[in-house]
Amino acid sequence: MPAVPNVSRQNAIQAIEEQFSVDKAMLESLVERFQELYHYGLANHGADMQMIPSFVTGVPDGTEKGTYLALDLGGTNLRVCEVALDGKGTFAIKQEKYKVSEQLKRGPVRDLFDYMATSVDNFLTDFGTASTDDVLFLGFTFSFPVEQTAIDRGHLIHWTKGFDCPDAPGKDVVQLLQDALDRKHIKVKCSALVNDTVGALLAHAYASNGALISAIFGTGTNGAYLEDISKITKLKSAEGSITHMVINTEWGGFDDDRKALPVTIFDNQLDRESIRPRNHVFEKMISGMYLGEVARLVLLHLIDQLVLFQGFSSAILNTQYGFDTAYMSAIEADNEPASSSSSATRKVLVQTLSIKDEYISTEDIETVRTVCKIVGTRAARLSATAIAATMIQTGNVQSTGPQDQGVKVGVDGSVIEFYPHFEERLRAALRELIGEEGEKRVKIGLAKDGSGVGAALGALQAAKQAASGHRVET
Ligand code: ADP
Ligand code: MG
Repeated sequence: MPAVPNVSRQNAIQAIEEQFSVDKAMLESLVERFQELYHYGLANHGADMQMIPSFVTGVPDGTEKGTYLALDLGGTNLRVCEVALDGKGTFAIKQEKYKVSEQLKRGPVRDLFDYMATSVDNFLTDFGTASTDDVLFLGFTFSFPVEQTAIDRGHLIHWTKGFDCPDAPGKDVVQLLQDALDRKHIKVKCSALVNDTVGALLAHAYASNGALISAIFGTGTNGAYLEDISKITKLKSAEGSITHMVINTEWGGFDDDRKALPVTIFDNQLDRESIRPRNHVFEKMISGMYLGEVARLVLLHLIDQLVLFQGFSSAILNTQYGFDTAYMSAIEADNEPASSSSSATRKVLVQTLSIKDEYISTEDIETVRTVCKIVGTRAARLSATAIAATMIQTGNVQSTGPQDQGVKVGVDGSVIEFYPHFEERLRAALRELIGEEGEKRVKIGLAKDGSGVGAALGALQAAKQAASGHRVET
């Protein structure tokens, strides 16, 4: 008697479907948990879902004008941009990318920031259009964990993404940059430190005449929104004239103590083998870095049950992160009959993953498509809980009457941009959560280039806040 239980394909898939299904009651309990954690994070420092005040006290409406610099550290390259805002919701951008060597990433922090200042200087020499007599204002997108204490002040908590300058944690990154610029006598003032999610909100608000929410579904997931100052109870010193502030939710850390999230054994395995176990569990069920990995673990489970590919795998499919989320997009977009010998699904399996063609039956093609659909649908439905919770938190579910403009939500990231049916599935879950009327109020638009235009708008907002005498700090 074989020791592997004799499971039919149908039963094996049904078991997966049941584990990954997120029904209406589950969605509702997640939104409830979101609301609890929103309140907790707005009242307390150091929460898992941090609810970080950005010190940006308003969003653009598209009438903003002027030329600003933006500096972006934290992606693949260092990027310097000059953004000219025309006051009509559109802009012209010039940008240049600079390589950051491994040596700079791990050496003394002063060398890294001197390099950034030199890059700004080189950019201005090569591309700068503004008169060199005036001081130029610069917005700094620094995509690492920062404890922000003013619009132009924030201390590095710890490095991520392969950076490791040992003397940097605890230092104010704006001050580091300003000192480096001053040492080289570059007439640039770093006036704003902007998280990329906040940047996406500012960029979309500028382009669409007033967005209130932004959401990233890319490598990771995060959201930002405009909150009433009175609800940010952990902020002690806001002045009376300030009414709102953009909050960077860091919702990737939602429910890290797993009180509500329906984690499966596949999520647990992924998490256990990840760089930071028990951290960003929600993000690991949703975002581009992880979706392919969840699907890979499910496929391997079916292989081990001998219901897929006759029990054969491949070296690539056996490799951690060997199944990219982009393959799921290609498979979900595949409309060819499963029996076709040239379907996109079969191509991914044979050409990209090196599964032997003769092991793959027509039913296997259907099973692989079903697995991607199950994992992708759960991600979209879980994503909807974050949007619904933010709509409720900001009192935006109900229509405001016949002139209702809805709520503009700026989104960015390859998953929301390219994953087939992601938005449609997210919207279906939104309808279950906030009704058809609420769902219709959600106007999703692509927030283009949040880290460039958003940082420039952050610098502009800082100048506005300074001119009006606003100063918020903790
Ligand atoms: P970032 O978040 O770093 O700014 P992206 O928004 O491009 O970058 O997201 C990159 C992530 O999206 C990667 O994890 C990648 O696996 C995934 N990805 C890339 N292309 C696609 C696609 N066509 N469909 C779904 N996911 C994709
Ligand atoms: Mg991005």
